Formats: sequence, C-alpha cells, structure tokens
Amino acid sequence: MSVRQMLPSKAEGDIIDSGSELFQSHLHPDGLPVLKKAKGHYWYPADGPRILDACGGAGVACLGHGRRDVIRAVNAQMESFTYASYAHFKSKPVQELSDWLIQSTDGKMEKAYIMCSGSEAMEAALKLTIEYFRWVGEPQRTNFIARHESYHGTTIGALSVSGHHTRRVPFHSLLSPSNFHHIPACNPYRQRLSPSETDTALVARQKAELEDVFARLGPSTVAAVVLEPVVGAALGCVPPVPGYLAAMKAVCQRHGALLIYDEVMCGMGRIGGRLHAWQRLGDEDGDDVAPDLQTVAKGFAGGYQPASALLVGGKVARVMGREGRVFTHGHTYQNHPVVAAAALQVQRAVKEEGLIWNVKLRGYLLGRLLKERLGQHPNVGDVRGKGLFWGIEFVKDKATKEPFEPDLKVAERVYIRAVRVFRVLVYHGQGCAGGGRGDHIMIMPAYNVSRKLVAKIVERVARAIEEIFREL
Ligand code: PLP
Repeated sequence: MSVRQMLPSKAEGDIIDSGSELFQSHLHPDGLPVLKKAKGHYWYPADGPRILDACGGAGVACLGHGRRDVIRAVNAQMESFTYASYAHFKSKPVQELSDWLIQSTDGKMEKAYIMCSGSEAMEAALKLTIEYFRWVGEPQRTNFIARHESYHGTTIGALSVSGHHTRRVPFHSLLSPSNFHHIPACNPYRQRLSPSETDTALVARQKAELEDVFARLGPSTVAAVVLEPVVGAALGCVPPVPGYLAAMKAVCQRHGALLIYDEVMCGMGRIGGRLHAWQRLGDEDGDDVAPDLQTVAKGFAGGYQPASALLVGGKVARVMGREGRVFTHGHTYQNHPVVAAAALQVQRAVKEEGLIWNVKLRGYLLGRLLKERLGQHPNVGDVRGKGLFWGIEFVKDKATKEPFEPDLKVAERVYIRAVRVFRVLVYHGQGCAGGGRGDHIMIMPAYNVSRKLVAKIVERVARAIEEIFREL
C-alpha cells in the first residue's frame, strides 16, 4: 500500500498555511512554540493546531506522552519517598530496575548504575575504564579510540571522545587532544570507496584502519574503543554493515582493550526486535558482539524522568568485586528512586504491549514508505535506518553526494517548515558529511505508533522537504 492510499483523502485539518497569522502568532519571542500539553503522539502548543510527534524530542518519548500508568507509578513512588542518597540506602525500585536491566543482556552484563543523563553515563564509562586498567596493573592504557562522526555527550570527557566537529569547536581548549583519537564511522553511503566495494571489503578496510591506530599509539596504551552501534544524531540513523561490530570487537580483544557501546539513543528497543541494539545486530550477523561496557538513556524512561544507566560486563565487574574495590565515582542523584520507578513502568509497558516487536514491524513500513516517497528526490542522497530510527540525508548533487553549504542550514529549514506548516516534529542535524558539512533529519516516533500514523508522518515530512527544495 502506498502512503497516499493509507492517508485519509480529505484535507488534513492540522496543516496550516505558512503565511497564516495563526502560524505566526503561536510563536514565543525566541521562535519556539509555548507548550500547553502533550498526549499520545501529539504536542499541543498554547496557540495553534497540535503537532504530530515524529521524533519524541531527541528520540526520547518511546511510549508517547501523558501515559497514566507511568504517571501513577511516579506518583506512588513520590508518596513513599522522593529521594534517598545511594550512599545511605538501597531502594526497591532501583534494585528491581538494575536486576531487570542486567537480566536483559543475555548474561553479558553484571552490574548497573542508574543515573540521569546520557552524558553522565558516558563520562562514567570512560572513568571506569581508566580505573579498571589501574586495578589490573595496566595504568598506561589511557587512550580512547572513537569515530569522527560521533556524539557521546556534552560533558568534557564525553565531548572529548566525541568526534562531532561543530559541537567540539567552541571548546577545543578544554578537550584533551592527547588521549582521544578518531577513525571514520561505518557509514556505507559515504565511506565506500566505490559502489562496487562490498560490505566485506568495507569492513576489512575499516578493521585495518582501527588496527593502524592501535599500532600507531602502541596497542598496550589503548584503553577502549567507543562507538554507537547505530549512529544517531551525528550521522542520522546509520546502521553498520554486517560484520562491522564483530570486526571492531575482534581488534579490541586481540589487543586487550575494552569495547564500549553508547546506546543512549539507539538502544532500549529503538531499533526493534531486541531491547539492546547490539543484540539485534549480533543476531542478524550471527555474531556475539556484546560490549564490555554499555550506556543507555532516552528510551529507558521515555522522558517521564531523566534516566540513564551504565552497564558493566563480566570482565570488568568481576575485577570490581575483588578486594573491596569500589568505583571512585558518584552523583548526588545516582540511583534516584523516582527515576527508577518511571523507568520500571515504561519498560513494563514496552514489554506487556509487545512494543519491541511493533518497532520492528512499523520500522519496516516507515523505511519502505520513506524510500518510496523520497528515494528519487534529487536532493535526498540517502534514506537509512532500522526499527523506528530513520534518517534522511540531503545533498546538493545526488550523483557526487556533494553536501549543501552549512550556512544554508538546509536541515533546519526542513525542520522549521515541517513543524510550522505541516505540524510534524522531526529532529535535524548537520555534519553528517564530515567537518561540519552535510544535513540530515531524523524520524523516531513512539514505539506504539500505528500504520496510519507512520503514513501520515511520511506524507507530511515529504511535503515539507519538497517545498523547501522547490524554493532553494
Ligand atoms: N550519546 C548519544 C549517542 C547521544 O545521542 C546523546 C544525546 O543526544 C548523549 C550521548 C548524551 O546524552 P544526554 O544529552 O542525555 O546527556
């Protein structure tokens, strides 16, 4: 069934004319709509028609908005106790959540730290790596290898490991140049040397690139390789080619370095099929690609509370357990009981409603409809993704893949047109072609999205894209 067949034939009441006064008047002076409420798949601004949520903010709202079950769970925890310092007490929701999270990893992870943001979890992963190597008598392992096109967080350690050009530039003076090294990400659209380079050849080449960096630094100085299994904001939903994760893991194992997965955005069911992205990718490749450390956030509590976690695999956890070793790290709000109560209920709902399966099914539909509707557009270079995690990359020239000039802010224009006129919220980013160049948008609806809503999202996004490029 095509997108048009799936849409109601009558004109859609939510869509407004870009010149209308209503559209102008609902804007806050800083350009953003003032929000009155959010329910299900829609945002309701104080003024103006509702906005269809096709990205859950930054891929956060995995259950949609205003779920009574989650609100009740949060309130119930607030009634019991609102806060308990992790240094003084254990709490039932935190214990239950940690145990459940560990169990979800096919026995690969043995410890969990519950935190509040993705940056905190990534920062903790880097620090635990350093501490682990001190414990095992290899304190010289202080180098981290990540990818050029990557974003791992906003704090200094997490930003140092990130390769994201535009987010790094203002803070160069604070970022350690000597401990953080970058290789190209696995991005078949831009990394293949020619259309005839096979996946196997691409993986072999990227594996050799990683080996070269280990050799240059001295293999025994490398602490960890850090990567996002499916690259989110930095590239726009790019899954690796088959065999890539296993190749990266093999290099780490050969040299005794840890493998850290950042599943802040792509994890917790976002790519469907399995809870963790590495599980689905590993199943598809027939490889054990489990990491040594893993972070999760966004879909963990779906935005009902600020929640993240660091998961610690057996190799590190067993060393921690010996001789009373304790990770020298902690946040005031670590193991927050209300955060845990929210995450538990979100995850209960995801399981009981079979949403990880829905993500996979709707993901196939979303990908197919986006490709059908936009694949031939002269300024759409690539449509890629997995589950409910899809990106569209824009190019000036489809044949050469040349990106637009950054000053044109093409992705931002599409986002603004989509939200203001077609009343659909998408996430936009720049830098996917490297060095701050390249534009993309991301589509990440809630896991319980229907077929009809998927079609509506595609149609509205496509119309916004078509309008913008007609005008350029
Ligand atoms: N890692 C990835 C892959 C992210 O996408 C983000 C945020 O977008 C982070 C880390 C940082 O998470 P937070 O913004 O919650 O600190």
